[in-house]
Amino acid sequence: MKQYPIAIVGGGPAGLTAAYELTKNGKQTLVLEKGDKVGGIARTEVYKGYRFDIGGHRFFTKVGEVNELWHEVLGDEFIEVPRLSRIYYQGKFFDYPLSLLNTLGNLGVFTSFMILMSYLNAKAKAAIRRPEVETFEDWVTHCFGRRLYLTFFKTYTEKVWGIPCNKIQAEWAIQRIRGVSLKRAVLSALFQNKSKATTSLIKSFQYPILGPGMMWERFEEIINEKGSEVWREATVTRISRENHQITGITVEQAGSTEEIVAEHYISSMPITALVSRLDPPPPESVLQAARSLSYRAFLIVALIVNIDDLFPDNWIYIHAPEAKVGRIQNFKNWSPAMVPEKGKTCLGMEYFCTEGDEIWTMKDEDLIALATQEMVNLGFGTPPDVQDGTVIRQPKAYPVYDRSYRQHLEVIREFLEPFENLQTVGRNGMHRYNNQDHSMLTGLLAARNLLGEEHDLWNVNTERSYYEEFTTEELKNQEGSELSMSSSSL
Ligand SMILES: Cc1cc2nc3c(=O)[nH]c(=O)nc-3n(C[C@H](O)[C@H](O)[C@H](O)COP(=O)(O)OP(=O)(O)OC[C@H]3O[C@@H](n4cnc5c(N)ncnc54)[C@H](O)[C@@H]3O)c2cc1C
Repeated sequence: MKQYPIAIVGGGPAGLTAAYELTKNGKQTLVLEKGDKVGGIARTEVYKGYRFDIGGHRFFTKVGEVNELWHEVLGDEFIEVPRLSRIYYQGKFFDYPLSLLNTLGNLGVFTSFMILMSYLNAKAKAAIRRPEVETFEDWVTHCFGRRLYLTFFKTYTEKVWGIPCNKIQAEWAIQRIRGVSLKRAVLSALFQNKSKATTSLIKSFQYPILGPGMMWERFEEIINEKGSEVWREATVTRISRENHQITGITVEQAGSTEEIVAEHYISSMPITALVSRLDPPPPESVLQAARSLSYRAFLIVALIVNIDDLFPDNWIYIHAPEAKVGRIQNFKNWSPAMVPEKGKTCLGMEYFCTEGDEIWTMKDEDLIALATQEMVNLGFGTPPDVQDGTVIRQPKAYPVYDRSYRQHLEVIREFLEPFENLQTVGRNGMHRYNNQDHSMLTGLLAARNLLGEEHDLWNVNTERSYYEEFTTEELKNQEGSELSMSSSSL
């Protein structure tokens, strides 16, 4: 049995941030990470020198402390990346965020007119009777009209979540798309200044030169240098408790089992996994609540293509229902250093799936063939241009916000609340749709709680970071040229 002051489960952004903050303040920590590298979902994978993320990871935050932390750890090894992304739908590329002229040109005057009519219809109905807005479909139809919902929201959102939009909670849409007004966007687009339109379409974001994994490896290095420890390939299999006190954890590493006892525990593992590993188990109602929470998985097929310049975007959203691929990343356009060979491109063909479904269980070679075919169908290259490929599967990529998730999460939260020496942090650790910044913020505040401050981690505001184009302030600054209303930015 080994003793540590603080044990942290998970070496992703949340766990590493907690360890970093504690170590910096003179506390010894042990981070237990089941993967072979740190970074969790925000890691960078490397295949034959080609680097790629689990979904491109933009560094964008409105949380000053997190931004400072990024630069404290990585110094000037960030690059500012001009952002360019488009939507592929009905054989055409739409600017994203949507711009009025490009959208009109692609959809044609008739369809655009019908979209406007359907929007006015929704508004007229709402003026007569306040609509009941419960689901994603209700909310988007209410705000933008049914036609626009069918054109730009439905197919992609259902690809991502794998469930119909009328089974997704409205709160997810509100969190993601709040503050967007079609009326204001159209009006200001009519009076826009064209040069401003172009500059506002291409914004920029920060990105570590070698991808986000570089950041998490640096965190790990600093934590180790300061005398704390990070164990990789160390899986927490049991969490022992006495009533509301954690008394120890069991860790499996390289075929051997270790018992760890700490005074405090911070967990960023999925909250459902935490509950199922408690010994003795919690009451059946809590176990049942954990079984009722679900996740969406994700896999990426990285294709190495013998073409220097395939397209200028960082990524393209594939709304077209005829393709299974949901989004295509071009990692060279995130950072040229992600691609080691001149004249080649590395595409990340991203598939949203559910563990055990047809896509998830497909053999790697079949997935590479599917991705190659879909790449060709979209007009990028020919099959012989694909020199090589690899597949990375990411279970539990997205915590699902279905109709009952809040109620189940509440049951678990209430059960965990009285534990004096356990805090749960991060995205899956709290079943919250957090980006890196808010995942890190929960880790930071959990650490500060152990340093004598008092923070309610469940109050960390998840809304502020949701992508820049979805925030009211940003919309006001956009000079009105963009209709930032597709649900693509996930
Ligand atoms: C496709 C996609 C794109 C994204 N894009 C962005 C983006 O552009 N910008 C952005 O800011 N955020 C983005 N995110 C979100 C970001 O990835 C997460 O917010 C972040 O990784 C969450 O950090 P975390 O530490 O809470 O969890 P995780 O990253 O999930 O880390 C948890 C860690 O716990 C480990 N673990 C689990 N169980 C155990 C166990 N039993 N024992 C030991 N270790 C265990 C896991 O291996 C993992 O490393 C994206 C996410 C996805 C899925």
